[in-house]
Amino acid sequence: MITFSCRHPVRFALLFTLVVTLARAAVAPSMSSWQVGTGREIITPPAGVWMTGYAARSRPADGTAQDLWVKALAFADPVGQRGVLITLDLCGITQEITARVCAQLEKKHQLSRAAVMINVSHTHCSPWFEGSIIGLRILPAEGLTKADAYRRDLEQKIVRAADYALSHLAPATIAWGEDSASFGVNRRENPEKEIPARRAAGTLRGPSDPRVPVLAVHDASGALTALLVSYACHNTTLSFYQWHGDYAGCAQAELEKRHPGATVLFALGCGADINPNPRGTVELAQQHGLTLADAADRALARPMTRIEGKFSAAAEEITLTYAHRPSKEQILEAQQKEQPNREMHQAWAAAMNDQIKTHGEIPLTHAYPIQAWRLGNLAWAALGGEVVVDYALRLRAENQGPLWVFGYSNDVMAYIPSERVLAEGRYEGDTSMIPYGRPGPWTAGIEEKIVTKSHELLSRTQTR
Ligand SMILES: [Zn+2]
Repeated sequence: MITFSCRHPVRFALLFTLVVTLARAAVAPSMSSWQVGTGREIITPPAGVWMTGYAARSRPADGTAQDLWVKALAFADPVGQRGVLITLDLCGITQEITARVCAQLEKKHQLSRAAVMINVSHTHCSPWFEGSIIGLRILPAEGLTKADAYRRDLEQKIVRAADYALSHLAPATIAWGEDSASFGVNRRENPEKEIPARRAAGTLRGPSDPRVPVLAVHDASGALTALLVSYACHNTTLSFYQWHGDYAGCAQAELEKRHPGATVLFALGCGADINPNPRGTVELAQQHGLTLADAADRALARPMTRIEGKFSAAAEEITLTYAHRPSKEQILEAQQKEQPNREMHQAWAAAMNDQIKTHGEIPLTHAYPIQAWRLGNLAWAALGGEVVVDYALRLRAENQGPLWVFGYSNDVMAYIPSERVLAEGRYEGDTSMIPYGRPGPWTAGIEEKIVTKSHELLSRTQTR
Protein backbone atom coordinates (compact mmCIF):
# COMPACT_ATOMS: atom_id res chain seq x y z
CA MET A 1 0.00 0.00 0.00
CA ILE A 2 1.20 3.55 -0.74
CA THR A 3 0.44 6.32 1.77
CA PHE A 4 1.50 9.94 1.57
CA SER A 5 1.42 12.75 4.04
CA CYS A 6 -0.23 16.17 3.65
CA ARG A 7 2.17 17.94 5.97
CA HIS A 8 3.80 19.71 3.02
CA PRO A 9 1.07 21.43 0.96
CA VAL A 10 3.44 22.41 -1.90
CA ARG A 11 4.82 18.91 -2.22
CA PHE A 12 1.26 17.54 -2.09
CA ALA A 13 0.14 19.97 -4.80
CA LEU A 14 3.03 18.84 -7.01
CA LEU A 15 2.21 15.22 -6.34
CA PHE A 16 -1.45 15.85 -7.10
CA THR A 17 -0.53 17.54 -10.40
CA LEU A 18 1.71 14.61 -11.27
CA VAL A 19 -1.01 12.08 -10.50
CA VAL A 20 -3.57 14.01 -12.59
CA THR A 21 -1.08 14.32 -15.47
CA LEU A 22 -0.32 10.60 -15.39
CA ALA A 23 -4.03 9.80 -15.26
CA ARG A 24 -4.66 12.01 -18.31
CA ALA A 25 -1.74 10.43 -20.11
CA ALA A 26 -3.33 7.03 -19.57
CA VAL A 27 -6.42 8.13 -21.49
CA ALA A 28 -5.43 10.88 -23.90
CA PRO A 29 -2.87 10.16 -26.59
CA SER A 30 0.21 12.37 -26.60
CA MET A 31 2.28 13.66 -29.50
CA SER A 32 4.39 10.52 -29.34
CA SER A 33 1.39 8.23 -29.27
CA TRP A 34 0.13 5.72 -31.77
CA GLN A 35 -2.02 6.96 -34.61
CA VAL A 36 -4.92 5.07 -36.14
CA GLY A 37 -7.14 5.50 -39.20
CA THR A 38 -9.99 3.45 -40.61
CA GLY A 39 -11.55 3.01 -44.02
CA ARG A 40 -14.41 0.96 -45.45
CA GLU A 41 -16.30 0.20 -48.66
CA ILE A 42 -19.28 -1.96 -49.47
CA ILE A 43 -18.24 -4.94 -51.62
CA THR A 44 -21.64 -6.58 -52.11
CA PRO A 45 -21.68 -7.97 -55.68
CA PRO A 46 -24.15 -6.81 -58.31
CA ALA A 47 -26.89 -9.10 -59.62
CA GLY A 48 -25.91 -12.21 -61.56
CA VAL A 49 -22.68 -13.02 -59.70
CA TRP A 50 -22.23 -16.65 -58.60
CA MET A 51 -21.71 -17.58 -54.99
CA THR A 52 -18.90 -19.66 -53.50
CA GLY A 53 -18.40 -21.99 -50.55
CA TYR A 54 -20.85 -24.79 -51.34
CA ALA A 55 -20.59 -27.10 -54.33
CA ALA A 56 -24.35 -27.64 -54.44
CA ARG A 57 -25.19 -24.09 -55.48
CA SER A 58 -26.44 -24.23 -59.03
CA ARG A 59 -27.29 -20.61 -59.84
CA PRO A 60 -26.13 -17.06 -59.06
CA ALA A 61 -27.22 -15.23 -55.89
CA ASP A 62 -30.82 -14.03 -55.66
CA GLY A 63 -30.16 -10.83 -53.74
CA THR A 64 -28.71 -9.16 -50.68
CA ALA A 65 -29.69 -9.98 -47.11
CA GLN A 66 -26.74 -8.10 -45.61
CA ASP A 67 -24.06 -6.00 -47.26
CA LEU A 68 -20.51 -7.32 -47.47
CA TRP A 69 -17.66 -4.98 -46.49
CA VAL A 70 -13.97 -4.40 -46.82
CA LYS A 71 -12.64 -2.59 -43.77
CA ALA A 72 -9.17 -1.27 -43.08
CA LEU A 73 -7.46 -0.46 -39.80
CA ALA A 74 -4.24 1.47 -40.35
CA PHE A 75 -1.86 2.55 -37.67
CA ALA A 76 1.48 4.21 -37.08
CA ASP A 77 3.51 3.61 -33.95
CA PRO A 78 5.19 6.47 -32.03
CA VAL A 79 8.18 6.42 -34.41
CA GLY A 80 6.04 6.29 -37.53
CA GLN A 81 6.21 2.58 -38.41
CA ARG A 82 2.95 1.81 -40.20
CA GLY A 83 0.80 -1.21 -40.84
CA VAL A 84 -2.67 -1.85 -42.21
CA LEU A 85 -5.03 -4.71 -41.41
CA ILE A 86 -7.64 -5.31 -44.10
CA THR A 87 -10.65 -7.49 -43.30
CA LEU A 88 -13.12 -8.77 -45.89
CA ASP A 89 -16.57 -10.35 -45.68
CA LEU A 90 -15.48 -12.91 -48.27
CA CYS A 91 -14.97 -16.67 -48.35
CA GLY A 92 -11.42 -16.53 -49.64
CA ILE A 93 -8.66 -14.43 -51.14
CA THR A 94 -6.01 -15.39 -53.67
CA GLN A 95 -2.27 -14.76 -53.63
CA GLU A 96 -2.70 -12.87 -56.90
CA ILE A 97 -5.23 -10.40 -55.44
CA THR A 98 -3.10 -9.91 -52.32
CA ALA A 99 0.01 -9.31 -54.43
CA ARG A 100 -1.71 -6.69 -56.59
CA VAL A 101 -3.24 -4.89 -53.58
CA CYS A 102 0.11 -4.89 -51.75
CA ALA A 103 1.92 -3.59 -54.85
CA GLN A 104 -0.47 -0.65 -55.07
CA LEU A 105 -0.16 0.13 -51.36
CA GLU A 106 3.61 -0.03 -51.62
CA LYS A 107 3.54 2.42 -54.51
CA LYS A 108 1.14 4.83 -52.83
CA HIS A 109 2.24 4.55 -49.21
CA GLN A 110 5.69 2.91 -49.32
CA LEU A 111 4.34 0.06 -47.19
CA SER A 112 6.33 -3.16 -47.21
CA ARG A 113 4.55 -6.43 -47.98
CA ALA A 114 4.93 -7.47 -44.34
CA ALA A 115 3.03 -4.38 -43.17
CA VAL A 116 -0.17 -5.32 -45.02
CA MET A 117 -2.32 -8.09 -43.53
CA ILE A 118 -5.47 -9.29 -45.30
CA ASN A 119 -7.95 -11.57 -43.51
CA VAL A 120 -11.25 -12.96 -44.79
CA SER A 121 -14.24 -13.93 -42.63
CA HIS A 122 -14.97 -17.01 -44.80
CA THR A 123 -18.66 -16.26 -45.17
CA HIS A 124 -20.07 -18.75 -47.68
CA CYS A 125 -22.70 -16.19 -48.73
CA SER A 126 -20.12 -14.29 -50.75
CA PRO A 127 -19.00 -14.31 -54.38
CA TRP A 128 -16.83 -16.76 -56.28
CA PHE A 129 -13.92 -15.22 -58.14
CA GLU A 130 -11.07 -16.41 -60.29
CA GLY A 131 -8.39 -18.49 -58.61
CA SER A 132 -10.39 -19.23 -55.46
CA ILE A 133 -11.88 -22.68 -54.83
CA ILE A 134 -11.49 -23.45 -58.50
CA GLY A 135 -12.66 -27.04 -58.19
CA LEU A 136 -16.08 -26.11 -56.83
CA ARG A 137 -18.03 -25.92 -60.07
CA ILE A 138 -17.53 -25.10 -63.76
CA LEU A 139 -19.24 -21.74 -64.20
CA PRO A 140 -20.94 -20.65 -67.43
CA ALA A 141 -19.06 -18.06 -69.52
CA GLU A 142 -21.36 -15.27 -68.39
CA GLY A 143 -20.68 -16.15 -64.75
CA LEU A 144 -16.93 -16.02 -65.38
CA THR A 145 -17.22 -12.60 -67.04
CA LYS A 146 -19.19 -11.22 -64.10
CA ALA A 147 -16.78 -12.78 -61.59
CA ASP A 148 -13.86 -11.14 -63.37
CA ALA A 149 -15.55 -7.72 -63.35
CA TYR A 150 -16.35 -8.16 -59.65
CA ARG A 151 -12.76 -9.10 -58.83
CA ARG A 152 -11.38 -6.01 -60.59
CA ASP A 153 -13.81 -3.77 -58.74
CA LEU A 154 -13.02 -5.53 -55.45
CA GLU A 155 -9.30 -4.86 -55.77
CA GLN A 156 -9.93 -1.16 -56.30
CA LYS A 157 -12.19 -1.04 -53.26
CA ILE A 158 -9.67 -2.85 -51.06
CA VAL A 159 -6.97 -0.37 -52.07
CA ARG A 160 -9.33 2.61 -51.59
CA ALA A 161 -10.34 1.47 -48.09
CA ALA A 162 -6.70 0.97 -47.05
CA ASP A 163 -5.67 4.21 -48.75
CA TYR A 164 -8.34 6.14 -46.84
CA ALA A 165 -7.31 4.58 -43.51
CA LEU A 166 -3.62 5.34 -44.11
CA SER A 167 -4.42 8.90 -45.16
CA HIS A 168 -6.51 9.65 -42.06
CA LEU A 169 -4.21 8.64 -39.21
CA ALA A 170 -5.03 10.47 -35.98
CA PRO A 171 -3.69 10.20 -32.41
CA ALA A 172 -5.24 7.27 -30.60
CA THR A 173 -4.81 4.82 -27.78
CA ILE A 174 -4.93 1.11 -28.56
CA ALA A 175 -5.72 -1.51 -25.96
CA TRP A 176 -6.56 -5.20 -26.04
CA GLY A 177 -8.44 -7.72 -24.01
CA GLU A 178 -10.07 -11.11 -24.41
CA ASP A 179 -13.29 -12.88 -23.59
CA SER A 180 -14.81 -16.11 -24.86
CA ALA A 181 -17.73 -17.60 -26.80
CA SER A 182 -18.73 -21.22 -27.14
CA PHE A 183 -20.96 -21.54 -30.21
CA GLY A 184 -17.98 -22.95 -32.17
CA VAL A 185 -17.73 -26.74 -31.91
CA ASN A 186 -15.14 -29.16 -33.32
CA ARG A 187 -16.95 -30.52 -36.38
CA ARG A 188 -14.70 -33.52 -36.95
CA GLU A 189 -15.36 -34.99 -33.52
CA ASN A 190 -19.03 -34.12 -32.99
CA PRO A 191 -21.79 -35.18 -35.43
CA GLU A 192 -24.02 -32.12 -35.88
CA LYS A 193 -27.19 -33.74 -34.61
CA GLU A 194 -25.50 -34.95 -31.42
CA ILE A 195 -24.08 -31.56 -30.45
CA PRO A 196 -27.01 -30.21 -28.39
CA ALA A 197 -27.08 -33.33 -26.19
CA ARG A 198 -23.29 -33.43 -25.85
CA ARG A 199 -23.18 -29.72 -25.05
CA ALA A 200 -25.82 -30.15 -22.37
CA ALA A 201 -23.94 -33.10 -20.91
CA GLY A 202 -20.56 -31.36 -21.14
CA THR A 203 -19.22 -34.14 -23.37
CA LEU A 204 -18.26 -32.26 -26.55
CA ARG A 205 -15.13 -33.75 -28.08
CA GLY A 206 -12.08 -32.44 -29.92
CA PRO A 207 -10.10 -29.23 -29.60
CA SER A 208 -11.67 -25.81 -30.08
CA ASP A 209 -10.63 -22.25 -29.31
CA PRO A 210 -13.26 -20.28 -27.42
CA ARG A 211 -11.17 -17.12 -27.11
CA VAL A 212 -12.51 -13.83 -28.42
CA PRO A 213 -9.57 -11.42 -28.76
CA VAL A 214 -10.61 -7.76 -28.88
CA LEU A 215 -8.56 -4.73 -29.90
CA ALA A 216 -10.05 -1.33 -29.03
CA VAL A 217 -9.04 2.05 -30.45
CA HIS A 218 -10.01 5.30 -28.71
CA ASP A 219 -9.41 8.75 -30.17
CA ALA A 220 -8.04 11.80 -28.36
CA SER A 221 -11.47 12.59 -26.89
CA GLY A 222 -11.81 9.09 -25.49
CA ALA A 223 -14.40 7.96 -28.05
CA LEU A 224 -14.24 4.39 -29.36
CA THR A 225 -13.36 4.68 -33.05
CA ALA A 226 -12.45 1.12 -33.97
CA LEU A 227 -12.85 -2.36 -32.64
CA LEU A 228 -11.29 -5.56 -33.94
CA VAL A 229 -12.90 -8.81 -32.87
CA SER A 230 -11.68 -12.31 -33.67
CA TYR A 231 -13.05 -15.82 -33.22
CA ALA A 232 -11.98 -19.24 -34.49
CA CYS A 233 -15.09 -20.73 -36.09
CA HIS A 234 -16.31 -21.37 -39.62
CA ASN A 235 -18.53 -18.50 -40.71
CA THR A 236 -21.12 -20.93 -42.05
CA THR A 237 -24.39 -20.55 -40.19
CA LEU A 238 -26.02 -19.81 -43.56
CA SER A 239 -26.16 -21.57 -46.90
CA PHE A 240 -28.91 -19.72 -48.77
CA TYR A 241 -28.76 -17.75 -52.04
CA GLN A 242 -28.36 -14.27 -50.54
CA TRP A 243 -25.27 -12.17 -49.89
CA HIS A 244 -24.66 -12.12 -46.15
CA GLY A 245 -21.74 -11.67 -43.75
CA ASP A 246 -23.06 -14.58 -41.61
CA TYR A 247 -22.42 -14.48 -37.85
CA ALA A 248 -19.29 -12.35 -38.33
CA GLY A 249 -21.31 -9.82 -40.35
CA CYS A 250 -24.00 -9.79 -37.66
CA ALA A 251 -21.43 -9.26 -34.90
CA GLN A 252 -19.90 -6.32 -36.77
CA ALA A 253 -23.32 -4.76 -37.45
CA GLU A 254 -24.45 -5.24 -33.85
CA LEU A 255 -21.29 -3.71 -32.39
CA GLU A 256 -21.46 -0.77 -34.79
CA LYS A 257 -25.05 -0.20 -33.61
CA ARG A 258 -23.98 -0.36 -29.97
CA HIS A 259 -20.95 1.89 -30.55
CA PRO A 260 -22.01 4.57 -33.03
CA GLY A 261 -19.05 6.04 -34.90
CA ALA A 262 -16.84 2.98 -34.43
CA THR A 263 -15.63 0.85 -37.33
CA VAL A 264 -15.86 -2.79 -36.26
CA LEU A 265 -13.68 -5.34 -38.00
CA PHE A 266 -13.75 -9.12 -37.76
CA ALA A 267 -10.69 -11.31 -38.32
CA LEU A 268 -11.08 -15.08 -38.47
CA GLY A 269 -8.89 -17.29 -36.28
CA CYS A 270 -7.90 -20.91 -36.89
CA GLY A 271 -11.42 -22.26 -37.19
CA ALA A 272 -11.12 -24.64 -40.14
CA ASP A 273 -12.40 -27.64 -38.15
CA ILE A 274 -14.82 -25.65 -36.01
CA ASN A 275 -18.45 -25.03 -36.99
CA PRO A 276 -21.08 -22.78 -35.45
CA ASN A 277 -23.88 -24.67 -33.76
CA PRO A 278 -26.81 -24.58 -34.17
CA ARG A 279 -27.00 -23.27 -37.71
CA GLY A 280 -29.15 -22.92 -40.81
CA THR A 281 -31.17 -19.70 -40.40
CA VAL A 282 -30.62 -15.94 -40.42
CA GLU A 283 -31.95 -15.87 -36.84
CA LEU A 284 -29.17 -18.24 -35.77
CA ALA A 285 -26.53 -16.15 -37.56
CA GLN A 286 -27.88 -13.16 -35.65
CA GLN A 287 -27.86 -15.13 -32.41
CA HIS A 288 -24.18 -16.06 -32.85
CA GLY A 289 -23.42 -12.47 -33.88
CA LEU A 290 -25.00 -11.21 -30.65
CA THR A 291 -23.06 -13.78 -28.63
CA LEU A 292 -19.82 -12.54 -30.18
CA ALA A 293 -20.81 -8.88 -29.69
CA ASP A 294 -21.59 -9.57 -26.02
CA ALA A 295 -18.18 -11.22 -25.58
CA ALA A 296 -16.50 -8.19 -27.17
CA ASP A 297 -18.43 -5.81 -24.92
CA ARG A 298 -17.49 -7.82 -21.83
CA ALA A 299 -13.82 -7.55 -22.83
CA LEU A 300 -14.29 -3.80 -23.39
CA ALA A 301 -15.92 -3.33 -19.99
CA ARG A 302 -12.96 -4.81 -18.14
CA PRO A 303 -9.56 -3.11 -17.79
CA MET A 304 -7.70 -3.66 -21.06
CA THR A 305 -3.96 -3.83 -21.70
CA ARG A 306 -2.78 -0.67 -23.41
CA ILE A 307 -0.40 -1.10 -26.33
CA GLU A 308 2.85 0.74 -25.78
CA GLY A 309 6.10 0.50 -27.67
CA LYS A 310 6.57 -0.06 -31.37
CA PHE A 311 5.16 -1.86 -34.37
CA SER A 312 7.17 -4.35 -36.35
CA ALA A 313 6.27 -6.83 -39.06
CA ALA A 314 7.84 -9.78 -40.81
CA ALA A 315 6.46 -11.96 -43.60
CA GLU A 316 7.72 -14.78 -45.76
CA GLU A 317 6.47 -17.46 -48.07
CA ILE A 318 7.52 -21.04 -47.48
CA THR A 319 7.18 -23.84 -50.00
CA LEU A 320 4.51 -26.39 -49.16
CA THR A 321 4.23 -29.51 -51.27
CA TYR A 322 1.39 -31.78 -52.33
CA ALA A 323 2.04 -35.47 -51.69
CA HIS A 324 1.29 -36.69 -55.23
CA ARG A 325 -0.20 -35.96 -58.62
CA PRO A 326 -3.38 -37.66 -59.79
CA SER A 327 -3.02 -40.13 -62.65
CA LYS A 328 -4.62 -39.51 -66.07
CA GLU A 329 -7.08 -42.28 -65.23
CA GLN A 330 -8.13 -40.54 -62.00
CA ILE A 331 -8.73 -37.27 -63.84
CA LEU A 332 -10.75 -39.05 -66.52
CA GLU A 333 -12.81 -40.86 -63.90
CA ALA A 334 -13.60 -37.56 -62.14
CA GLN A 335 -14.81 -36.20 -65.47
CA GLN A 336 -17.05 -39.14 -66.34
CA LYS A 337 -18.20 -40.92 -63.19
CA GLU A 338 -21.77 -40.53 -61.99
CA GLN A 339 -21.33 -39.55 -58.33
CA PRO A 340 -22.60 -37.09 -55.72
CA ASN A 341 -21.39 -33.53 -56.41
CA ARG A 342 -20.51 -34.59 -59.95
CA GLU A 343 -20.05 -30.94 -61.06
CA MET A 344 -17.42 -30.48 -58.34
CA HIS A 345 -15.41 -33.50 -59.50
CA GLN A 346 -15.68 -32.31 -63.10
CA ALA A 347 -14.44 -28.86 -62.06
CA TRP A 348 -11.49 -30.47 -60.26
CA ALA A 349 -10.66 -32.52 -63.37
CA ALA A 350 -10.86 -29.37 -65.50
CA ALA A 351 -8.52 -27.57 -63.06
CA MET A 352 -6.03 -30.47 -63.29
CA ASN A 353 -6.16 -30.44 -67.10
CA ASP A 354 -5.69 -26.65 -67.14
CA GLN A 355 -2.57 -27.00 -65.02
CA ILE A 356 -1.17 -29.72 -67.29
CA LYS A 357 -1.84 -27.48 -70.30
CA THR A 358 -0.25 -24.41 -68.68
CA HIS A 359 2.74 -25.98 -66.89
CA GLY A 360 3.31 -29.26 -68.75
CA GLU A 361 2.53 -31.10 -65.53
CA ILE A 362 0.58 -30.37 -62.36
CA PRO A 363 2.74 -28.27 -60.02
CA LEU A 364 3.34 -29.91 -56.64
CA THR A 365 4.35 -26.77 -54.74
CA HIS A 366 2.55 -23.78 -53.30
CA ALA A 367 4.11 -20.59 -51.94
CA TYR A 368 2.50 -20.40 -48.51
CA PRO A 369 2.34 -17.01 -46.71
CA ILE A 370 3.18 -16.57 -43.04
CA GLN A 371 3.16 -13.18 -41.37
CA ALA A 372 4.05 -11.93 -37.89
CA TRP A 373 3.20 -8.59 -36.35
CA ARG A 374 4.08 -7.09 -33.02
CA LEU A 375 2.12 -4.19 -31.60
CA GLY A 376 3.98 -3.28 -28.44
CA ASN A 377 4.01 -6.47 -26.40
CA LEU A 378 1.12 -8.09 -28.30
CA ALA A 379 2.12 -10.48 -31.08
CA TRP A 380 0.00 -11.60 -34.05
CA ALA A 381 0.63 -14.49 -36.42
CA ALA A 382 -1.35 -14.63 -39.67
CA LEU A 383 -1.38 -17.89 -41.60
CA GLY A 384 -2.68 -18.57 -45.10
CA GLY A 385 -5.38 -21.12 -45.85
CA GLU A 386 -8.13 -22.72 -43.81
CA VAL A 387 -6.06 -23.40 -40.72
CA VAL A 388 -7.22 -26.00 -38.20
CA VAL A 389 -7.40 -25.05 -34.54
CA ASP A 390 -4.34 -27.13 -33.51
CA TYR A 391 -2.06 -24.41 -34.93
CA ALA A 392 -3.47 -21.63 -32.74
CA LEU A 393 -3.38 -23.79 -29.63
CA ARG A 394 0.20 -24.94 -30.28
CA LEU A 395 1.62 -21.55 -31.31
CA ARG A 396 0.07 -19.85 -28.28
CA ALA A 397 1.36 -22.54 -25.93
CA GLU A 398 4.87 -22.28 -27.37
CA ASN A 399 5.03 -18.48 -27.60
CA GLN A 400 6.34 -16.33 -24.81
CA GLY A 401 3.91 -13.48 -24.24
CA PRO A 402 0.44 -12.82 -25.60
CA LEU A 403 -0.19 -14.06 -29.14
CA TRP A 404 -3.23 -13.93 -31.43
CA VAL A 405 -3.26 -16.36 -34.34
CA PHE A 406 -5.32 -15.65 -37.44
CA GLY A 407 -5.97 -18.13 -40.22
CA TYR A 408 -7.54 -17.29 -43.61
CA SER A 409 -4.92 -14.61 -44.21
CA ASN A 410 -3.39 -13.30 -47.45
CA ASP A 411 -4.09 -16.44 -49.51
CA VAL A 412 -6.75 -19.08 -48.93
CA MET A 413 -5.46 -21.85 -51.19
CA ALA A 414 -6.70 -24.95 -49.32
CA TYR A 415 -7.22 -26.41 -45.87
CA ILE A 416 -4.13 -26.43 -43.66
CA PRO A 417 -4.34 -29.55 -41.51
CA SER A 418 -2.12 -30.18 -38.51
CA GLU A 419 -0.06 -33.36 -38.59
CA ARG A 420 -2.82 -35.04 -36.56
CA VAL A 421 -5.58 -33.98 -38.97
CA LEU A 422 -3.47 -34.80 -42.04
CA ALA A 423 -2.89 -38.33 -40.72
CA GLU A 424 -6.59 -38.73 -39.92
CA GLY A 425 -7.53 -37.54 -43.42
CA ARG A 426 -11.23 -37.01 -44.18
CA TYR A 427 -12.39 -33.57 -45.36
CA GLU A 428 -9.93 -31.13 -43.76
CA GLY A 429 -6.97 -33.51 -44.19
CA ASP A 430 -7.69 -34.83 -47.68
CA THR A 431 -10.92 -34.58 -49.69
CA SER A 432 -11.28 -30.76 -49.46
CA MET A 433 -8.45 -30.65 -52.03
CA ILE A 434 -11.11 -31.51 -54.66
CA PRO A 435 -13.17 -28.26 -54.34
CA TYR A 436 -9.91 -26.32 -53.95
CA GLY A 437 -8.68 -27.72 -57.27
CA ARG A 438 -5.43 -29.09 -55.78
CA PRO A 439 -3.73 -32.32 -56.90
CA GLY A 440 -3.84 -34.17 -53.58
CA PRO A 441 -3.19 -33.89 -49.83
CA TRP A 442 -0.25 -31.95 -48.41
CA THR A 443 2.99 -33.82 -47.71
CA ALA A 444 3.60 -34.95 -44.11
CA GLY A 445 5.69 -32.49 -42.10
CA ILE A 446 3.49 -29.48 -42.95
CA GLU A 447 2.81 -28.56 -39.31
CA GLU A 448 6.45 -28.42 -38.30
CA LYS A 449 7.34 -26.30 -41.34
CA ILE A 450 4.62 -23.75 -40.60
CA VAL A 451 5.17 -23.64 -36.85
CA THR A 452 8.96 -23.31 -37.18
CA LYS A 453 8.69 -20.41 -39.64
CA SER A 454 5.98 -18.74 -37.54
CA HIS A 455 8.24 -18.77 -34.48
CA GLU A 456 11.14 -17.48 -36.54
CA LEU A 457 9.11 -14.55 -37.88
CA LEU A 458 7.67 -13.80 -34.45
CA SER A 459 11.14 -13.67 -32.92
CA ARG A 460 12.33 -11.48 -35.80
CA THR A 461 9.68 -8.89 -34.92
CA GLN A 462 10.88 -8.91 -31.32
CA THR A 463 14.39 -7.79 -32.12
CA ARG A 464 13.44 -4.89 -34.37
ZN1 LIG B 1 -14.16 -23.70 -44.97
